[in-house]
Amino acid sequence: MCGIIGYTGVENAVPILVNGLKSLEYRGYDSSGIAVFEKDVVVVKEKGKISNLESKLQNIQLSANVGIGHTRWATHGRPDEINAHPHSSVNRTVTLVHNGIIENYAELKNELINMGYEFTSQTDTEVIAQLFESLFDGNAISTMIKTAEKLQGSYAVAMLIKGNEDKIYAMKKDSPLIVGKGENENFLASDIPAILSHTKDCYIVNDGEFVEISKNNIKIFDSKGVEKHFTTKRVDLTLSANEKNGYTYYMLKEIFEQPKAVRNTVAPLISNGKITLPFTPSEKLNHIHIVGCGSAYHVGVTGKYIIEELTRIPVTVDIASEFRYRNPIINKNDLCIFISQSGETADTLASLREAKRKGAFTLSIVNVPYSTISRESDAVIHTYAGHEIAVATTKAFSSQLAVLYILALFIRSKQNCIENYIDELLALPEKIEKTLKCENQMKLLAKHIATRKNVFFIGRGVDYPLCLEGSLKLKEISYIHSEGYGAGELKHGTISLIEEGTVVIALATDDTLLGKMISNMKEVASRGAILIAITNEDNNELEKIANHVIYVPKTNKIFSPSLTAIPLQLLAYHTTIEKGLDPDKPRNLAKSVTVE
Ligand code: GLU
Repeated sequence: MCGIIGYTGVENAVPILVNGLKSLEYRGYDSSGIAVFEKDVVVVKEKGKISNLESKLQNIQLSANVGIGHTRWATHGRPDEINAHPHSSVNRTVTLVHNGIIENYAELKNELINMGYEFTSQTDTEVIAQLFESLFDGNAISTMIKTAEKLQGSYAVAMLIKGNEDKIYAMKKDSPLIVGKGENENFLASDIPAILSHTKDCYIVNDGEFVEISKNNIKIFDSKGVEKHFTTKRVDLTLSANEKNGYTYYMLKEIFEQPKAVRNTVAPLISNGKITLPFTPSEKLNHIHIVGCGSAYHVGVTGKYIIEELTRIPVTVDIASEFRYRNPIINKNDLCIFISQSGETADTLASLREAKRKGAFTLSIVNVPYSTISRESDAVIHTYAGHEIAVATTKAFSSQLAVLYILALFIRSKQNCIENYIDELLALPEKIEKTLKCENQMKLLAKHIATRKNVFFIGRGVDYPLCLEGSLKLKEISYIHSEGYGAGELKHGTISLIEEGTVVIALATDDTLLGKMISNMKEVASRGAILIAITNEDNNELEKIANHVIYVPKTNKIFSPSLTAIPLQLLAYHTTIEKGLDPDKPRNLAKSVTVE
């Protein structure tokens, strides 16, 4: 979601800004733009892909050494050229780009309109520019401070300010911002990968700090305008190649990378059959909270089944946007786990802060090193899925699940032998590999699913959260409405939607619940549903009820979610392809959700 890049140096800023924007592209956006200082500030912006902006730039000869760029994911105002960033104040005192949401923008806008300011866009962002101009006292830092004092909400803002043509200014609250230090050049960005091809020396800006950078200088000021001492840190990251390696789409590549992702995530945590964690859970641990959004929430729900089964410690799972506002009950010895691929998910970050305020020990499971959630939590377990580009998560999901298995087994190991579980866990990547062989079968089924308006996923036990995930995966990329349901729950209302020809996908990998699942499958089959069953390789009896059966390798039921996820991901992917849609960039969605 939305990205910022800034450059000040001796090179032509334009290609540097455009390439920086391209490296932020995977996050999801709907328009883009740049502003550079020539004699005056020049703004070029365009709706849609960065390639549209590039075409526009080809007709304008720009040569400048200082500039800012933005990819916008619209929150306030349509995704069109006028609303695209950068935005300038009426007298062009400031031109800026913004990530985040200004919550009191309507109130501020009214005040500014009453003062005679005219607005050209529908964005909340333009309010920052006009407000800055209305408060401008000739000093960039003190005006930024006064502006920030009036803003409510979240923001990372990069600015070009008249009279300071060799500099970029920035400020932030609850939205990431990085300064990159180079030789005769300095950078600004909303994430580290955007500047990694130029420098590895970074300073991660804190909330309430104000930044001034020129080609040879980086200055950080506190909220009173006093210059602060700071040091840059050399980040231990290499730019991943981000190539499709022969796959048509990143999503399919990432689906097939899952054996490696799980192997790499597990490897640093297990050696000689023993688990080592980067923290020691409290001996008095008596409650675990898991918080996430979207698929990360589904990992949490799966984790509840697994952790409770293996450790008998109660687990509460929350959607982050609910957790942060529902005043959750957290006791001293509780463990709070926050799951986020990007490590920047706004609601998850706010939930983490809420848990810390309540005195909990916080653990994060994130895929992006140096991300805000990983930095702010008491302990972090990294997933080693590698850079995930497709918006719909696959390999990060599997890696997050693997971390929860390990955590559950570690807690269990304090009282019980876990040897068999460890063997099975280590065998999982190979079983995922084997499960991936169902691709052709899923491709055929996708032809059928692509013609449907509704699909239902039903399951019990650990299969239930996978129904939620399978359903989310299908609807987010193929735009087919679907619902994931506990198989026993369907008859409490939703079964009324089942009619002749409705597709129901039944997950039935828990042998102890197979009889119950068979009854639920019969209930929908007798109402005309077309049944697709996903089950363990020896459950042939489902062939008598289901129209199609997909078999996954047998494993301990604790680990079966890692296998059932595969046919569900492949089904969503191929259905999307069948419909002629782009699975990597579904409409309206962003990879990293940095607004609430
Ligand atoms: N709220 C701003 C807008 O809608 C910024 C969105 C973003 O973070 O890209 O323009």
